[in-house]
Amino acid sequence: MSGSERVGLSGDVEVLSGETRGAQLLRRVLAGTPSGESPLTHAEIVPARDGRTTGWPEWVPEAVRAPFLARGVERPWGHQVAAAEHAWAGEHVVVSTGTASGKSLAYQLPVITRLHTDPRATALYLSPTKALGADQLRTVHDLRVDGVRAASYDGDTPIPERDWVRQHANWVFTNPDMLHRGVLPRHGRWTTFLRRLRYVVIDECHSYRGLFGSHVALLMRRLRRVCARYGAHPTFVLASATVSEPAASASVLTGLDVVEVTDDGSPRGARAVALWEPPLLDEVTGENGAPVRRSAGAETARMLADLVLEGARSLAFVRSRRGAELTALGARRVLSEVDPALASQVAAYRAGYLPEERRELEQALLTGALRGVATTNALELGVDIAGLDAVVVAGFPGTRASFWQQAGRAGRSGDDALVVLVARDDPLDTYLVHHPQAMLGAPLERCVLDPTNPYVLAPHLACAASEIPLTREDVSLLGGDAALSVVDDLVAEGLLRRRRGGWFWSHPTDRPHAGVDIRGSGGEQVVLVESETGRMLGTVDPGTAPATVHPGAVHLHQGESYVVDTLDLDEGLAHVHAEDPEWTTQARTVIDISVEETEQCAGFGELQVCLGSVEVTEQVVGYLRKLPSGRVLDSTPLDMPARSLRTRAVWYTLTESALLRAGLEPAQWPGALHAAEHAAIGLLPLVATCDRWDIGGVSTALHPDTGHPTVFVHDGHPGGAGFADRAHEALREWLAATRAAISDCECPSGCPSCVQSPKCGNGNDPLDKAGAILVLDAVLGRLAEG
Ligand SMILES: [Zn+2]
Ligand SMILES: [Zn+2]
Repeated sequence: MSGSERVGLSGDVEVLSGETRGAQLLRRVLAGTPSGESPLTHAEIVPARDGRTTGWPEWVPEAVRAPFLARGVERPWGHQVAAAEHAWAGEHVVVSTGTASGKSLAYQLPVITRLHTDPRATALYLSPTKALGADQLRTVHDLRVDGVRAASYDGDTPIPERDWVRQHANWVFTNPDMLHRGVLPRHGRWTTFLRRLRYVVIDECHSYRGLFGSHVALLMRRLRRVCARYGAHPTFVLASATVSEPAASASVLTGLDVVEVTDDGSPRGARAVALWEPPLLDEVTGENGAPVRRSAGAETARMLADLVLEGARSLAFVRSRRGAELTALGARRVLSEVDPALASQVAAYRAGYLPEERRELEQALLTGALRGVATTNALELGVDIAGLDAVVVAGFPGTRASFWQQAGRAGRSGDDALVVLVARDDPLDTYLVHHPQAMLGAPLERCVLDPTNPYVLAPHLACAASEIPLTREDVSLLGGDAALSVVDDLVAEGLLRRRRGGWFWSHPTDRPHAGVDIRGSGGEQVVLVESETGRMLGTVDPGTAPATVHPGAVHLHQGESYVVDTLDLDEGLAHVHAEDPEWTTQARTVIDISVEETEQCAGFGELQVCLGSVEVTEQVVGYLRKLPSGRVLDSTPLDMPARSLRTRAVWYTLTESALLRAGLEPAQWPGALHAAEHAAIGLLPLVATCDRWDIGGVSTALHPDTGHPTVFVHDGHPGGAGFADRAHEALREWLAATRAAISDCECPSGCPSCVQSPKCGNGNDPLDKAGAILVLDAVLGRLAEG
């Protein structure tokens, strides 16, 4: 076998010599690798797991059990019953198990049983997307249990139907947006429903992270307060993907003590999991002459072709629609050289297809008319494709939960299958393919949110006061001490008025809800409009607009490519036209940071580690056009207004003498610190559910506020969303992984897989890869000494 020098781990050899279907497919894919290349960094058989079933809980009556039996659920899995028992006993519970482990049953059992046995009880179901809610509602309808009147209540529900839902439904399926805008402001119309509310189900609760999660956390507190007003104290049942410490995150989300159920009792087929790192190319260089890897998409195209040749039904996940189309095209090209008939068995699939087209595609994959499909994440939800022979994931999709969701399409039927993660040019991907434990072991990533962010608290306190005047107890329920000072500010602004009964909303005729965007930053969103048709495509956060939708920017929206013509920040409007050029754009910014308040600071000799609030000033000054190969076409200057952001940051400083002792000359300091900062930003998603666009960083050889060489990593949203706090908490693991990602990359002096950043405002200059390792060693050494 060519190019397998790195297959030195005994486990890999075992996998590769195995007789399982996954091993066969992996051998096929490896055999197609050009000689001299050794992209396989790890292979492992994740063994099959037998399901552990258990009896139905005694409290589930025959009428509830029967429809499940009829659908083939003879006996439930252990985790389903464990979670259902907690919920039935009135304990708030989160079930956090793998993809397709049947988490729905965990809440369906207690809720349906309650609604069936108690004609007065009601329940609320919340999902982050309408598609998921519609799916779950359909399932409940199909069960046809007596006494259960489930209905959806969202933006699409016709007005006349809404009255019916309020008055007659006892299980309402909605989403946080509608709860915020439609239900809580008019809770008087929901009195009967809310007074009888026994259960609140929060599905896919790991989606509520970052700023959105912080908003939803306050929304849950508002819901609990209004319910309490009507004498109801519902039990919360949450379903989560596998994350670290789900109960802790669920408690932050709901403000309640939550127990966790994580012992997955569902069966799983064996899978060969392979981690793959495309080689550095000799002939191409990227920014500042850095080496570039063969793109994950190109590598995936070749694999897809090999898999189809082997007769395997395969799915490839690629980041963008263009990428998916190029991957399918690449695979077809390879196949047509072998047999033109085979080429027609590969297709690209994208978001926006009509339901009929989706069904057609599912059917074609099922029957084998199609063998290879390249898709964007559009397939993650809403399409029923499972039991494939192979899944290739081109680039880590950002969270382990997404990765396993995608991987879960392979071998679900219990057969053995192949899953390959192909690393993109990115430090997190580099780390993961060299540290299989981070992918396959216990999760490190925590679902992070911060409901004490004053920028999030303020609008929710205003909404809450307009719903029911706020008492002192309410304020502490909504946000503790942090909320009290926000209330004072709202009084000073004239939005709230203090009276004897508490704090009142000052404008009874004009509710604050419509102005609060719970998915955005709270500021006015920038609207994207297609010039030719006048069609509104969507919105962009005003804070990131100068960097993402500046004139000339290539902007991907739901996998479709647009080029921005004009951006008017005052009007909050960006005009774009559909165009899919071969280049991408990258904004260049100048950035400045000042420390507003240091909340925590720990000294470790010549190292200091701090957490606090900062002010970041950022100005976009131009942009680069880059080809997919990494080659820079040109640089265009821009004149954009500076934007300042008050947020939270974690930072560390090393003394000058510590850097000298580490072997770093002063001339190296800026490049070494800058490289360490970039890689650290790239690795933060390992410990917190964020992506690198949620955070930013600044490094400097001398910062006026700290007086020392300093590296800052800050939240990208006003007030922060918990990322800096989580980084501070997991500092050792985070920086150790950062150091490993840099040293694992075999490039000589820095590349996009280690220390270059796609969003660097300074054009990735200066960067000192070797110096970054010395800086991180100095930090980690002192942390280890305590
Ligand atoms: Zn590198
Ligand atoms: Zn940079």
